[in-house]
Amino acid sequence: MDLSYSENQRMYLETVRKLVKNEITPHILEMEKAHRFPWTIIHKAWEMGVINLCIPESIKGFDVDVFSSALIIKEISYGDTGISTSAMCNDLANVVISQHGTDQQKERFLRPFVEKPLLASFCLTEPGAGSDNSMMISFIAKRDDGTYVLNGSKCFITNASYASQFTILCKVGKPTSNFMACVVIPVSHVTSADLPDVGNATREINLPTGGKIIIGKPEDKLGQRLSNTASVTFEDVIIEPDQIIGDRRFGFKYIVDVLDFARPMVAAIGLGLAKRALDVTLAYTRERKQFGQRICDLPVARDMLTTMWKKVELAELSLMKACCKIQEKAKDAGIYASLAKNTCSEAAIFCSTEGLHLHGGYGFTTEYEISKLARDAHIIDIYEGVREVQNMIIGREIV
Ligand SMILES: Cc1cc2nc3c(=O)[nH]c(=O)nc-3n(C[C@H](O)[C@H](O)[C@H](O)COP(=O)(O)OP(=O)(O)OC[C@H]3O[C@@H](n4cnc5c(N)ncnc54)[C@H](O)[C@@H]3O)c2cc1C
Repeated sequence: MDLSYSENQRMYLETVRKLVKNEITPHILEMEKAHRFPWTIIHKAWEMGVINLCIPESIKGFDVDVFSSALIIKEISYGDTGISTSAMCNDLANVVISQHGTDQQKERFLRPFVEKPLLASFCLTEPGAGSDNSMMISFIAKRDDGTYVLNGSKCFITNASYASQFTILCKVGKPTSNFMACVVIPVSHVTSADLPDVGNATREINLPTGGKIIIGKPEDKLGQRLSNTASVTFEDVIIEPDQIIGDRRFGFKYIVDVLDFARPMVAAIGLGLAKRALDVTLAYTRERKQFGQRICDLPVARDMLTTMWKKVELAELSLMKACCKIQEKAKDAGIYASLAKNTCSEAAIFCSTEGLHLHGGYGFTTEYEISKLARDAHIIDIYEGVREVQNMIIGREIV
């Protein structure tokens, strides 16, 4: 296991740090309060080549390895985890195409992301199928002419209001089928010029090939307010056979592959937030004095800062180990991905909660970033599989 950074990784990190330092950190509280979609940052990240990390070199993508992807996502998350969630979602939606698509599918579905700053959505969760996605009821049915028709509703879909392409997991034949397919639906391209901010509006997309997609109003969330989350309904959407990725019965296997890739990325989001919470708390407690001393010098407070630091460092180690395991295609990579996801989300919740406490009453106001970090942290423990599901995966493998 080699944890040293290559020259290329250092260069990437410097680029992202500059973006965060100049474009995100100084304005983040204002941006979050205004609740406007962060297109400007997404454009800059696209220009710098720090989103769409999984796109293969064969179609001019960056084909960034898992370890480097995690480092990049961690750095963006240090600035804001809503922005990194939105950026990372492109890879969540596109990695299955990179891994299992044909050359023609890669060209058709991935090339547009190399050419323009577009967003994609990954549609797995349904109202009745959250942690247990085998309960999904969206399905494709075959028609006499060899095409399929897709019907169903997905919820909590990141980027949905702004997406130019949807990757959907659905049942095959009937809602109770044991088989799942992975389907890609490209739609008219949406850029910041077309849709600067959706506000509270719904979006309806009539597809030229037949059927429509209805995007619900954006969710009004507790945290990660700079990411967009909405429901997506597919009504009689016609699917050509070449919109199905891989074998149309192996969707469940593809979900496992996507989530094994995504969990370390979500862990990286947690780690970035935990580190930011630690840093803003260190800065605050170095400044603020009570009982004649800086808060960071009061023994009990110092003890808490030490615990926060240890959580961050241990979370980083778990993430690095997971990345190495995935990179070397180790058989037990999945449990390390789950371990990293749990360790990093726990660090994020712990450091933001205790960091807020160390800010006293000021931490409870919206003037201090720690209150935003505490709101943002909770979802990291939920999306891409709740904590209990990660424990279930680890438990199943170790006994
Ligand atoms: C901001 C945001 C963005 C999201 N983005 C996407 C996206 O882009 N694409 C997508 O498909 N989905 C997305 N999701 C959905 C997310 O992945 C689900 O919310 C998550 O998987 C949990 O499903 P659920 O909300 O239905 O909770 P449930 O499955 O109903 O779980 C509720 C609670 O029950 C408990 N529980 C569940 N299972 C177990 C178990 N096995 N053992 C013990 N306790 C258990 C846990 O405490 C859990 O928190 C997003 C959600 C949010 C809020």
